[in-house]
Amino acid sequence: MTLRRRLMEARRRGLILLTDLDGTLAPIVDRPRAARLSQRARRILVRLARHARARVGIVSGRSLPTLRRLVRVPDAAYAGCHGLEIAWRAVRFRHPRAVALSPLLQRVTHRLRRKTSRYSGVLVEPKGLTVSLHYRLADPRIVPTLRSIVREIVTRAPALEVLAGKKVLELRPHLAWGKGKAVRLMRDLLAKSLEGRAPLTVYLGDDETDEEAFRALRGRAVCVAVGRRRTRAAYRLGGPAAVEKLLAWLADALEGADVSR
Ligand SMILES: [Mg+2]
Repeated sequence: MTLRRRLMEARRRGLILLTDLDGTLAPIVDRPRAARLSQRARRILVRLARHARARVGIVSGRSLPTLRRLVRVPDAAYAGCHGLEIAWRAVRFRHPRAVALSPLLQRVTHRLRRKTSRYSGVLVEPKGLTVSLHYRLADPRIVPTLRSIVREIVTRAPALEVLAGKKVLELRPHLAWGKGKAVRLMRDLLAKSLEGRAPLTVYLGDDETDEEAFRALRGRAVCVAVGRRRTRAAYRLGGPAAVEKLLAWLADALEGADVSR
């Protein structure tokens, strides 16, 4: 069945749209601070989040405050630090073990800064409950050195683990909690607020961490991988431009427009 045909079920059942941000809704940029959601993409998300029978949740490795500032869609649910923190309406969740480990994470952030400061193009981004080491702008020859610095730090702080993403190494609390558990929590939270039949859940994501979400939602959601890579998702889109187009179509479909063309 084509993706659009599958998504038409949302007209009857209602919709929960869960999506990653970087590489999915917005193109990946050299400096993470420069990332932007296009005006058009934001307007589409606002339309979806406002719809009486739809809910929108944004799931990202970024910190919750940064995520909200970048997305700015009222009434969307937000999951930051790969789901270690979740906010929606009056609901606030911060993983208690992760909160307890934040002093350790601060010390680790200092160590990481000290050990990487001599390399140009390397950026340490503290996110509260996790810390990222970005190397998109660094000389590729230093990447093995960066990896061993991070490995050494984690050996001394076994309560943390390393997660490798696109040109980023992330240190986070070693917990049985990731995007997978977070998206299920988010989906249940959002579904409860919708009346009637079980809403159609859709998850879109472009990175390794999103595979965790695809696995957790198998059989429960329409999973869409963005970009080229091996994936367990049933559907695939080329990039943020294709995502924007699909979401515009979906908003039209939910609003009852004739989208059969
Ligand atoms: Mg991403």
